[in-house]
Amino acid sequence: MKKIGILACEHFMIKGCPGTDVCWKCFDFASNKKGQFEKYGTEDVQVTVTATCGGCPGTRVVKRGMMLAKQGVDVIHIAGCLVQEVPCPYFDNNTIAKEIEKKSGIPVVVGIE
Ligand code: SF4
Ligand code: SF4
Repeated sequence: MKKIGILACEHFMIKGCPGTDVCWKCFDFASNKKGQFEKYGTEDVQVTVTATCGGCPGTRVVKRGMMLAKQGVDVIHIAGCLVQEVPCPYFDNNTIAKEIEKKSGIPVVVGIE
């Protein structure tokens, strides 16, 4: 089974996915193998842990990614609320993905769609 960690925008995780009032899209995409989760093919996929960026202005985001990495996940996905919907104005997703990947040795996928 592929264990997935989700790194989310704190603002949206509290408020819900952009434009809705619940936090659901990453879980829907993972369990139904949509978007970036399609590539896992027939392997079971489960979101086993989530973490927020730590809040604005995003100074804790790499540490939060490392927290996820320590929870035994196989892959970290940077959530849709951080990438596709409303890009965070405080940091670049590709840069933090590379940094977390380099420090943890765990692949980091930018986005879910
Ligand atoms: S995009 Fe993912 S982490 Fe962000 S609010 Fe929606 S379900 Fe939650
Ligand atoms: S730093 Fe960026 S990702 Fe984190 S809560 Fe603020 S806007 Fe969202």
